[in-house]
Amino acid sequence: MIATENMDIKKIAQSKIGQVDFQNIQFGKVYSDHQFMADYVDGQWKNLKIEPYELLQISPASPALHYGISIFEGLKAYKHDNGDVFVFRPDKNIERLNKSAIRMCMPELPENIYFDALNTLLDIDRDWVPEVEGTSLYIRPFVFSNDDYIGIRPSQDFKFMIITCPVGAYYAKPVKVKIENHFVRAVEGGSGFCKTGCNYGPAIYPAKLAQEKGYDQLVWTDGKEHKYIEESGTMNVMFVIDGKLITPALGDTILAGITRDSVLTLARDWGYEVEERKVEVAEVIAAAKEGRLQEAFGAGTAATIAHIEMIGYEGTDYQLPAVEEREFSNKVLKTLDDIKLGKAEDKFNWLHKI
Ligand SMILES: *Cc1c(COP(=O)(O)O)cnc(C)c1O
Repeated sequence: MIATENMDIKKIAQSKIGQVDFQNIQFGKVYSDHQFMADYVDGQWKNLKIEPYELLQISPASPALHYGISIFEGLKAYKHDNGDVFVFRPDKNIERLNKSAIRMCMPELPENIYFDALNTLLDIDRDWVPEVEGTSLYIRPFVFSNDDYIGIRPSQDFKFMIITCPVGAYYAKPVKVKIENHFVRAVEGGSGFCKTGCNYGPAIYPAKLAQEKGYDQLVWTDGKEHKYIEESGTMNVMFVIDGKLITPALGDTILAGITRDSVLTLARDWGYEVEERKVEVAEVIAAAKEGRLQEAFGAGTAATIAHIEMIGYEGTDYQLPAVEEREFSNKVLKTLDDIKLGKAEDKFNWLHKI
């Protein structure tokens, strides 16, 4: 890949890759050798550079630290058997980053800067894309306020960065979830549809309470009545009931997941009946009681598909059918993995070659 002409590239003197145990990667613990950075100053993106991964200097008054003026994305790169590196649907991430940017009074990031940054950084750190089965390189683009001003107002200066880290399979086991009927993640008119820092911090406490009760994560319900299902942790959630694939419709309380879109695209292509609509907690619980809830799973970049084995609601735990019996979620997981690894046809042009 050709680097942007005006990108400064400073490579690490000695790669850290020899210290990494690729058979045994812990999520988010090791970062690749390099980071990308760009500044937004005087209304322009400039100072594009790649340098060794290192600590940042930031004003203690930065609104990113005080008010959560920050947005991020998450996507993954995969290595094919012939050594080529591919990123899954990166065009969707820049689209979504810019939606988050508008909501947070941040400047949009031009696509060419994003793709130059992504291509050049991944080209330099291509050895960091692991080959072991189930692993990938997690890519974290983010933008944050770099103002030296503690007042609350739209920020003027920003930094765009990309860091990457090799990851193993995120959820090794099927998950137990609890349907939350007190705390909320997002409300209508809020920022739930954005990947902005300020949505995630407050979600940790309710999740921690559920974990203390033996659940892995929460299923969020709507902020008004706790009547409708929204998402599961930081994944979109889907159900197979009576043979139909059902998932909450998008809106401003739901993050428009790229995995969600990919799953729905495949399901429709295969001729499954798909419903995107409001999903009542009551109908999922009724289906579970009557044995009609065949499958439930979270969909997101980290796990791709996280099978849900148990749903807790108002003190009762509902056990779901064995994971081996789940036709749709197993098939969609296998197909997505195969597409990402170049083992199935990339019919929808989802792969971007580095
Ligand atoms: C990132 C995220 C998702 C999943 O989106 P993908 O693009 O599939 O990774 C779902 N819900 C929330 C709240 C998220 O932050």
